[in-house]
Amino acid sequence: MVAARVPRLIDLKKRGRALAEDEWRWIVRSFTDGGIPEYQMAALLMAVWFRGLTDGETAALTDAMMHSGRCLDLTVISRPTVDKHSTGGVGDKVSLALAPLVAAAGAAVPMVSGRGLGHTGGTLDKLAAIPGFRTVLSVDEFVSQVARVGCAITGQSPDMAPADGKIYALRDVTATVDCIPLIAASIMSKKLAAGPQGIVFDVKVGRGAFMSTLDDARQLSRVLIGIGQTSGRHCTALLTDMDQPLGHAVGNALEVRETIELLCNGGPPDLREVTLALAAEMLAVAGVVADRRAGWVRAEEVLASGAARDRFAAMVEAQGGDAGIIDDPSLLGSAPMVKELRAPHAGSLARLDARIVGETARALGAGRATVDGHVDPRVGIVVHAKVGAVVAAGEVLAEVHAASEDAADLAVEELAGAVEVVEERVPSPPVILERVDSHGWETWHHPTGHPG
Ligand code: URA
Repeated sequence: MVAARVPRLIDLKKRGRALAEDEWRWIVRSFTDGGIPEYQMAALLMAVWFRGLTDGETAALTDAMMHSGRCLDLTVISRPTVDKHSTGGVGDKVSLALAPLVAAAGAAVPMVSGRGLGHTGGTLDKLAAIPGFRTVLSVDEFVSQVARVGCAITGQSPDMAPADGKIYALRDVTATVDCIPLIAASIMSKKLAAGPQGIVFDVKVGRGAFMSTLDDARQLSRVLIGIGQTSGRHCTALLTDMDQPLGHAVGNALEVRETIELLCNGGPPDLREVTLALAAEMLAVAGVVADRRAGWVRAEEVLASGAARDRFAAMVEAQGGDAGIIDDPSLLGSAPMVKELRAPHAGSLARLDARIVGETARALGAGRATVDGHVDPRVGIVVHAKVGAVVAAGEVLAEVHAASEDAADLAVEELAGAVEVVEERVPSPPVILERVDSHGWETWHHPTGHPG
């Protein structure tokens, strides 16, 4: 009976027809319960990949996936709640510092994050590099920590949007991940189930991102913001560069070290700029400050005063981790073998391919080769030169941190394909490209009017 209804719905979608809200609800419920087999769901997802979804269908699919599990009640949290979601990149450790920074500045941040996906790193894998840190909290622990500390970062619990877990796993093996309405429904079902009043999206664009063009990134932002608005949430998005990695460190413990530098009011300029810009958006969306300009100023203050660093320590301790890593990052451990990639000749660095860097870090063991694969927190890559840098012949462009000499040699060889040094001067590209809200997109301008 169930299986007999599905071919008609697949056929309608295959011909480009929009399915009704109750049809999407029925499909998601039946697939989650096991009533619709994977081969039929896979055929339907492929029809969606080719034909797309209307905004109404995307909203209906999101709502059905969100209600496939538990939706959190955040009413015990007295402060305005706001979260950030990145669509995934290389060296993107922003969430680790951003959640405590925004909490120290006056909002509450209930952050639900993921593990690494493909060549991109995951916030949970980075946090797991901190000795003792628990990345899986029960729903009650999560809500009570946000109320007490102001922030918590946890993985998606099995009873939160379980339909997304099942559908995502199927998309991963049927080449249907790169589909804007399916990505939007997947992201928003989890985010809405976690219940924040506001959400800021960091939509990554470029070689190392799932969205390779600005047009696709704008389109995804428009759909994400539209779904958020329909659900009564205040949402904005920044489109940020992912042609080259963010910051210098790629790999879990290395990225925690760089996060500590940022929280001690240092860190690489591009990482600092993206973190402050997202914090300014979040504080404005939450209504903690009047506008983004005031948000930027507040965020800079809590970074400079040490309040963001102290809040990070409180979050780490609350989740069972060793906050001693802040004063002594050597507690994070280090890889036994470090080798260098050097510039073949003098010139300007014209390319630092984020996808190759991410794939090389994954091959070193910083990410998983299989769903259940082991992650080595110590390994990764530290880039010393970013695009636009003037380099001398033989200058160190990047360091590889590896578990063995063989792994290090292989990684240096692969990394050589990620860089290009040219004779003419190359300008440093901007890291924040555009801002999107419910009115549309615009070129990003520094909120205080004076960059860096
Ligand atoms: N991140 C998600 O959570 N879902 C997608 O479909 C893609 C990226």
